[in-house]
Amino acid sequence: MSDSANPFESLQSQIDDAASVLGLDDDLVTRLKHPERVLETNLTVELDDGSLEQFRAFRSQFNGDRGPYKGGIRYHPQVSRDEVKALSGWMVYKTAIVDIPFGGGKGGIVIDPTAYSTSELERVTRAFAVELRPFIGEDRDIPAPDVNTGQREMNWIKDTYETLEHTTEPGVITGKSVDSGGSEGRVEATGRSTVIAAREAFEYLEKDLEGATVAVQGYGNAGWIAAKLIDEMGATVVAASDSSGGIYNPDGFDPVAAKDHKNETGALVDFEGSEEKLTNEEVLTLDVDLLIPAALENAIDAELATDVQADVISEAANGPLTPEADRILTDRDVFVIPDILANAGGVTVSYFEWVQNRQRFYWTEERVNDELEAIIVEAFDSLVETLETHDIENPRTAAYVVSIQRVADAFEKSGSFP
Ligand code: NAD
Repeated sequence: MSDSANPFESLQSQIDDAASVLGLDDDLVTRLKHPERVLETNLTVELDDGSLEQFRAFRSQFNGDRGPYKGGIRYHPQVSRDEVKALSGWMVYKTAIVDIPFGGGKGGIVIDPTAYSTSELERVTRAFAVELRPFIGEDRDIPAPDVNTGQREMNWIKDTYETLEHTTEPGVITGKSVDSGGSEGRVEATGRSTVIAAREAFEYLEKDLEGATVAVQGYGNAGWIAAKLIDEMGATVVAASDSSGGIYNPDGFDPVAAKDHKNETGALVDFEGSEEKLTNEEVLTLDVDLLIPAALENAIDAELATDVQADVISEAANGPLTPEADRILTDRDVFVIPDILANAGGVTVSYFEWVQNRQRFYWTEERVNDELEAIIVEAFDSLVETLETHDIENPRTAAYVVSIQRVADAFEKSGSFP
């Protein structure tokens, strides 16, 4: 992964591109480009050996014009204030493109979770939940999982919040396990929207998904589910990578068997269904029909973008292209389905989870998947309509035009206080 672009600056340039299409006032654009507030805190936590360690943590509440702040919590050594701000901004435009009644937020802790025991991670998580407590709530800010967090951490945060508030409020957080108030279909949702959007793009471009070749970078929650579902749609997954390296089989491999291998050994490499080992860069530049980046930001920079051979990219990850890479790929006629639409399945099913929590009425997985499908298809259609109406070349700009207009309308129609 290249770290050549500051993700917050990437977000701001994406907003500028779309705002210029819409001709919005500079004052409004400035407002759309900055978070409303950012919590930065140092968590002091006792480790198993009795020593104390401090962990820096952030929560950015970017924009709440369309509803409560919404977005995940990431555990990673490279978490930074600017990264969290960028990720929270992307959430604003993501919830707007799929038209669900949320704003955008994001949080993170600077930590390598593999270096700590489960009980240490629980204390870190609960310490963060104590700090977050005044700022979150089902009508205020609703966190969710992101890189290196999942149901376990969400359950801990819910339990800490409810204990301190002397209440039951499962909608304070989403991505919980089903027995703690989570939704059916939430774990698969991000990968599912990534492939639904890819399917729609193939149809729009009049390309055949059946037999199309696919490479997936990152084989965690988003990446592996996307690989499994695109395989079920008839495409052939020929390559995948995780942080240990890449695997390749020109005839395709079984994505589920590859995941089982990763679960057993901790890595994709040495998977028996692979014919060749590839580097991460080689996976990203393979001659495939569809590329799914599903790891971290800035995976494809300008240099790599000139070598990308895929015709369509569906961004499961947030911000996988630097702005320069995005421009190069647009010039090269690569159809990029932007992250704010491609991976919006996660937050959309989080919305369904929140609705179910508030109603104390739970849906079947079939209903969740059907409602998700309808929302992603409608969002894709609105992107295409905007692309064509405004004669925009870059689908990302079209997506931002749709979503920025929605956020701007919400702000302007409610006026400002005081
Ligand atoms: P995860 O921790 O489950 O998986 C991340 C994967 O990326 C791991 O397999 C890891 O080995 C791999 N990876 C890390 N660095 C890599 C590199 N340099 N090359 C190749 N692989 C690398 O995380 P996730 O939840 O799947 O999230 C992945 C991306 O999807 C992130 O950008 C996240 O913000 C985005 N996303 C996730 C969700 C969700 O619901 N999980 C929702 C929306 C967006």
